[in-house]
Amino acid sequence: MGIVEEDIRRVRDETDIVQIINQHTQLRKVGTRWQGSCPFHDENTPSFSVNFELGVYYCFGCRASGDAITFVREKENLDFAGAVEYLAAKANISLRYTDKNENETKGRRQELLELVGKAVNFYHDCLINQPEARPAREYLKSRGYNREIAAQFSLGWAPAEWDNLAKHLHVSAEDLQDAGLGGLNRYGKQYDFFRDRVMFPIFNERGEPVGFGGRQLPEGEGPKYKNTSDAAKIYSKSQVLYGLNWAKTEAGRLSEIVVCEGYTDVIGAHLAGIERAVATCGTAMTSDHAKKLRRFAPRIVLAYDADNAGQAAAERVYGWEEEFELEFAIADLPEGSDPGELSRKDPAALRRAVEEAKPFLQFLIDRELKRGDLSTPERQVRTAEEAARLVTEHPNPMVRDSYVIQIADTCHVNPEDLRRRMQDLAPRTPTQKRISEEGIEKEKVFKIEIAEVERQALEILLHRREEIVDYLLPALFLTGVAREAYETVEDANGDFHAAREMAEESVSSILVEVVASEATEEDSLGVLSRLLALAAEQKAAELSAVAKREDNYDRELLDDIQYLRSQVATLREVPEDVKALKPLLEWFRSATS
Ligand SMILES: [Zn+2]
Repeated sequence: MGIVEEDIRRVRDETDIVQIINQHTQLRKVGTRWQGSCPFHDENTPSFSVNFELGVYYCFGCRASGDAITFVREKENLDFAGAVEYLAAKANISLRYTDKNENETKGRRQELLELVGKAVNFYHDCLINQPEARPAREYLKSRGYNREIAAQFSLGWAPAEWDNLAKHLHVSAEDLQDAGLGGLNRYGKQYDFFRDRVMFPIFNERGEPVGFGGRQLPEGEGPKYKNTSDAAKIYSKSQVLYGLNWAKTEAGRLSEIVVCEGYTDVIGAHLAGIERAVATCGTAMTSDHAKKLRRFAPRIVLAYDADNAGQAAAERVYGWEEEFELEFAIADLPEGSDPGELSRKDPAALRRAVEEAKPFLQFLIDRELKRGDLSTPERQVRTAEEAARLVTEHPNPMVRDSYVIQIADTCHVNPEDLRRRMQDLAPRTPTQKRISEEGIEKEKVFKIEIAEVERQALEILLHRREEIVDYLLPALFLTGVAREAYETVEDANGDFHAAREMAEESVSSILVEVVASEATEEDSLGVLSRLLALAAEQKAAELSAVAKREDNYDRELLDDIQYLRSQVATLREVPEDVKALKPLLEWFRSATS
C-alpha cells in the first residue's frame, strides 16, 4: 500500500479517535469507554463504544468496528492510503512511502476506476447523441425513462461496432481487460466487451464506477443481460450490489433495504419513491451480499418477480438471519409482475407490497395455503401438511410452533395432531438433520452462556495479561472463534494491534468487540475457574459419548470422565488459590498436547 509501516502505526497511535468520531456523533465517557449513537446505523439508544487507549470502536447494534483509519475510510469515502494521509495531515505527521511497486498498486486501482468512469461517460454520450442509438433510446422510453432518468442513473448505449470504446479510450489491451471493458482478439486487435447494448453502470457503495450490466435490445443477439466479468480487477459479482450508492441513505434512515433482481427494478423502485432498492448483478444473493447489506440495514425486503419470490433457498435465508442478525421479508407482488413493470403500471401497488412485506416463512405458508383446497376434510389435512412441511425447515422451535398453530387454525385441523404429524413431515430433512437441528439449538444456548466467560478471559488477557497468561490453553476455549482469538493474541505476544492485523475478519472483530466492551471487574481467578469448569464439563460429555458409541469401558477412560466430573463439582466454588487449578490445567495440557 506504499506508506511505511512504522508511519501508519504512528498515525494510529497519535490520532485521537474520540476527537475524530466526535465530528460525526456525540460521544461521552461512560465508565472506561466512550459511548454514543452509532454513526453507521440509525438508533435511539447508544450502542456505539470506543476504546480511547487502544484507538478502536465497536457498535453492538450493527457490528461496525475498526480503528481511526477504518472510520475515516467509511465516513470520508477514502481508500486505505487516503485515510492514513487524511489522519496524518491532522496529526501533523509527514509520511514516508515505501517502494514504488506498492504505490503503483494503489495507483492501479485508481487508474482502472478512472477508465471505467470514462467508459460511463462515453456510453452515456453515445446514448444521447448518436443517431444509431435510437433503438436504445426507444427501449428506455418504453420503460418510462426520460432523459433526466437516463442522466440520473448514467445510462448509456454501447455502439454495435467491435472497437468503438477501445478506440475512444486508446489504452493498452491489458488496461481494457483489467477494467473489464474489452480485450485482444486472436488477430491481435482490441475489441469492446459490450456491443449494441443498453448500459447500466454499476457503482460501489462509495459511488465509484466498477462495472456494467449491458442489456440486449429487443431484436439484439446474445444473452439478455451481460455483466462485467469477474476477471476484471475491480469488480466482483458476489459482492457488488447495484444501486447501493443511491440506496444507502434511505436504507440507513428506515433501517430497511429492498433487494430486487435487476437494474430496471432498482430504477423503477426509485421512480415509485422507494430509494432504498438494490439488486444483485447476474447472480443469486450470496452470503457476502447479506453481510454487506447488514452494514446498511438490519431488515431486508426481497422484491422479486412474483414467480420467483420465495425461490431463495429457505435454509440459506434462515442461516443468514441467524448469522448476521438480519430479518428477511418478502414483498407479495401481483402475479406475473416485477418491480420494474409494477412501478410503471401501478407505483402505489409497489409501495404497498414493500410496506406490507411478510416475514419469509409467513409468505411461503400463505402462498401454499392460497394454492390449497379446503373444500373437504381430506383436502384440509393435505393442505395443512403441505404448509407444515415448509415450517419444518425453520431452525427455531418456538417460531415453528406458532406457525403450526396458525396453519391448524386456517385449515381447521387439530394443532396437537398437526404437531405430531410434523415428526414425519420432513422427507426433505431426514432424521440426521433433525438431530443436528436440535444440536444447533442446544449448542447456541451453550455458546452464549460460555461466550461471556470466554470474552472475559480474552479481555483479561489483553488488559491484565500477567494475571492470566500462564494459565490459559487453547483447549479451554470452546467456541472456535474465541479459541482462534486466543491463539492469535498469543502469536502476537499479547499485542492487541499486532493480533488484530494478523487475524482474519471474524476473529479481529471479536478482539475489537472485547476491548470496546466495558472492562470486566471480574477477578482472573473467578474467570479462569469458570472457564475450566465449562471445558471440563464439555470434555467429560465428549468422552462419555465416545465411550458409549464405541462401547469402550476401559478403566482409563472411565477414570478420566469421573475425574473431570468431580472437578466440575469442585469448581462450583471458586478456589482460594490458583494453585488449586493446576492439576486440572495439567490434565488438559497433557490430554490435548
Ligand atoms: Zn451501528
